Amino acid sequence: VLVGFVTAWLASQISRPFAVIARDAWLGQALRAAVRQRRIRVHYQPFIDLTDGRVLGVEALCRWKSLRGRPMAPDVFIPAAEHTGAIAAVSRAVFRQSAAQFGEWATQHGAGLTMSINVSAVELCKPAFLVDLTRLAAGAAESGYRLCIEVTETAIIARTDEALLVLSAAREMGVLVALDDFGTGESSLAYLGGFPIDIVKIDLSFVAAVDVDETAHAIVSAIVSMASSLGAATIAEGVERPGQLRALRDLGCDIGQGYYLGRPAAAAGVDWTRRTLA
Ligand code: C2E
Ligand code: MG
Ligand code: MG
Ligand code: MG
Repeated sequence: VLVGFVTAWLASQISRPFAVIARDAWLGQALRAAVRQRRIRVHYQPFIDLTDGRVLGVEALCRWKSLRGRPMAPDVFIPAAEHTGAIAAVSRAVFRQSAAQFGEWATQHGAGLTMSINVSAVELCKPAFLVDLTRLAAGAAESGYRLCIEVTETAIIARTDEALLVLSAAREMGVLVALDDFGTGESSLAYLGGFPIDIVKIDLSFVAAVDVDETAHAIVSAIVSMASSLGAATIAEGVERPGQLRALRDLGCDIGQGYYLGRPAAAAGVDWTRRTLA
């Protein structure tokens, strides 16, 4: 059995250059230290109802304030955390902070807001995540906000049966499920329709040119109509200009998120006011 594990581990590492493995190992250690020293912080980015400009909720996005004060992109340190197992500690820190923050916001801004959190593919099917999810869902129910988990299609495809169980459990607990970065993977919405998915987040690579490129426009249009036939709402990621906003509203996309509508910010900097849509 041990030999099997070692072989499997080696095989999984072999495709990654040694320099990347070494860097990730260092990052993993540094991240665990950062969690202990409370240098893992959460920023929040609003998402907006494209029919009336209301802020429906915010997505929690993890930030690492390194000792040198240089910010490092989650696109770099989250994969490193996943490869080294540090993701468990990082996720716990993000879950804890955002739940505490939402407890406050729910009393300030009233009930019905949604807190969206990203769940790593590595974590989704672990028993520990189900424990966290149960606790988070209970906190949300108590404070009167809605919890949403963002998962990627990779996470679902990798462990299909387990993923179905976890996502079904989430639905049972009243937690929304969003499919993050949709369109970047290989799977079709027809296949993913077999899973309890409430929201499809259209990857920003398609949203980027939705107002200027015919192909991008056609892809977004197809995603919106397929999602709606599955009974799922759509969120466009990466809205940076009024032109994109107009195109998305014309296509019937439900919700928008992006720098034009609000950048990720520390809790105190979140703008909760209703947006005026162009
Ligand atoms: P994501 O969940 O798809 O988050 C959206 C990313 O797009 C965020 O990058 C956000 O800052 C960025 N973004 C938002 N609006 C715009 C826009 O108008 N234009 C452009 N170009 N970008 C925009 P960020 O914060 O760097 O996070 C990157 C990724 O790291 C996330 O992608 C998510 O997959 C992962 N991540 C972030 N925080 C966490 C976390 O707490 N846990 C886990 N497991 N993953 C996380
Ligand atoms: Mg996300
Ligand atoms: Mg995304
Ligand atoms: Mg992304």
